Amino acid sequence: MYDDGIDLDAVRTDTPGARERIFLDSAGSSLPPEPVLRETISHLRRESEVGGYRAAAERADDLDKGYAVAAGFFGCQPDEIAFTESATRSWLNAFTSVPLAEGDRVLITEAEYGSNAVAIYHRARMVGAQVDVVPSDSTGTLDVAALRELLDERVKLVSLVHAPTNSGLVNPVREAVDAAHEAGALVLLDACQSAGQMRVKADETGADMISATGRKWLRGPRGTGILVVRQGLQLAPTQIDQHGATWSIPDGVELRPDARVHELWESSVADRLGLIAALRYADQIGIDAIERAVRARADALREGLAAIPRVQVHDIGSVRSGIVSFTVDGIGAMDVKSALQAKRITVSASGAHGALLDMTLRGLTEFVRASPHYFVDHEQISTFLETVSDLICV
Ligand SMILES: *Cc1c(COP(=O)(O)O)cnc(C)c1O
Repeated sequence: MYDDGIDLDAVRTDTPGARERIFLDSAGSSLPPEPVLRETISHLRRESEVGGYRAAAERADDLDKGYAVAAGFFGCQPDEIAFTESATRSWLNAFTSVPLAEGDRVLITEAEYGSNAVAIYHRARMVGAQVDVVPSDSTGTLDVAALRELLDERVKLVSLVHAPTNSGLVNPVREAVDAAHEAGALVLLDACQSAGQMRVKADETGADMISATGRKWLRGPRGTGILVVRQGLQLAPTQIDQHGATWSIPDGVELRPDARVHELWESSVADRLGLIAALRYADQIGIDAIERAVRARADALREGLAAIPRVQVHDIGSVRSGIVSFTVDGIGAMDVKSALQAKRITVSASGAHGALLDMTLRGLTEFVRASPHYFVDHEQISTFLETVSDLICV
């Protein structure tokens, strides 16, 4: 059994799906706990009774407190938080607010996420900027010394991925941010796979902007995201509405001075309340306990898989996340996923597109991903490992 400070009975009572299935896809879209469901569903019901405007007005205080809750979670100020519809929306808003002109450079890493990469390459081509990839060291970790060598005054942005989508890697964010800042570049941190499974504190990472999603390790509703923008950055988004700006004189607009300039007026209030409940839930358990619990489960998975003949674990890096990626000789990733699904085990299967640079460099075209959250118990991990073994024997 695990000795990690998680009250397994309590969290599993809050998560009925964790008992009915062996759920190993918190890096994809996790199981929201009961308090998140209650908050979301009860608000939808209230909207059906009194209409969306009045229902939102009744929760105005809670919605406002949500900024402080998110700020506490990310170790920043409430006015440095914007709520969005996804991590990608957060990331795109941040990215497109960084001025980029012909001759400028953007640095990305081998762990760059697919959607970020397409946005960067597309915009760089449109404005005539240059994109360079920072190589990794022999362990697969972002090489901070190599980053330093690539930095110069033309680099306007360094795009970092804290924990990539396709390997167990955790990148050394602080060292990379310090190097970027010394060269005068801004840093946008993709914390989509780290927020909710390990500490992501704005001051500790040093990043200028941080994007995160609700639906993965935070266990919030789908269609929710968070953007942290540090104070004083003065970056204007390219897309604003009357929530982010005031139309005070016919030909002039005044932008909000805080991170909420990145929000649009319309949003799903029920989902926002659900996300705030998810942040509170994670706080209540404690992010350090969550991190220990996720790591213990992922390590057990990794070790167990590595011991099965014809199974290859593809994790890289010296610090590991809760994402375990593997392949099975002679069985395609989709087939492994389907076979496990038939046994009530949920994992995900992906091609190379999510992290094309890393996958191409390692000669991988697809992989199966198992990502256990703290609500997965020891017995379930053993059952998962036995089931994978059985796949090979038949
Ligand atoms: C899932 C993922 C995203 C995108 O998150 P959305 O919520 O789909 O916008 C971004 N970066 C990484 C590393 C991811 O794994």
